[in-house]
Amino acid sequence: MLKSIIANNLKTARAKRGWSLSRASEITSVSKAMLGQIEREESSPTMAVLWKIAQGFALPISALVERHTADHMLGALRTSEEIALDDNIQFHTLFSYDPELNSEMFAMSIKPGKKHQSNAHTQGVIEDIVVISGTLDLYLQDNHTQYKAGQSVRFSADQAHGYGNSTKEVVHFHNIIHYPKLIAAL
Ligand code: MN
Repeated sequence: MLKSIIANNLKTARAKRGWSLSRASEITSVSKAMLGQIEREESSPTMAVLWKIAQGFALPISALVERHTADHMLGALRTSEEIALDDNIQFHTLFSYDPELNSEMFAMSIKPGKKHQSNAHTQGVIEDIVVISGTLDLYLQDNHTQYKAGQSVRFSADQAHGYGNSTKEVVHFHNIIHYPKLIAAL
C-alpha cells in the first residue's frame, strides 16, 4: 500500500513536470532503473532515496508518502500508518506539508543500535526535534549530542546530519521540518 502511494505520487509529480525517467534521474541522482522500479511498485525507496527524490522534485517528504485527495484542506491533519522504508528509522505523519506554514511534522522512532544518516536537505531547511521518550543521538558535522525525553533542539538541516539510538530502549521523537519558500506542489 505504501509502495503504491509512493509510486502514484512519483508518477504524478514526474508527469506534471513533463520529465522523462532520464531527466528525473539526472535531477534526483537516483538511477533510472530505481525510479522505474519505484513507479512500478517493484521496490520501495530507502529513506535516503526518498529524500533524494523529494529534493530533486523540490517536494516535502509528506507529499511523497501521503495519499493525495482532491480536497486540499488548509492545514490538513493526516495520520498515516507507521512508515518503515528501511530498518534504520520509522515514522508516521502528524501534519502533512502545509503550504501556508511551509512545514510538516512527523513522529519518528529508532530501534536500539540503529542510525539514519541523512544528506543535506535543500538550502534553508530547518528541523526541530522534540524527544518524547528514550535518548536520541543527533549527529551534526563532527559533533554528536544526546537528547533525552523532554529535550528539544533546532538545527540547520542543509548540512549532513544523522539520528541514532545507542541505548537499549527505542527512542521516540517528533520532527518538524521547516522549508524555505521554494517547495513546489506535487
Ligand atoms: Mn533530516
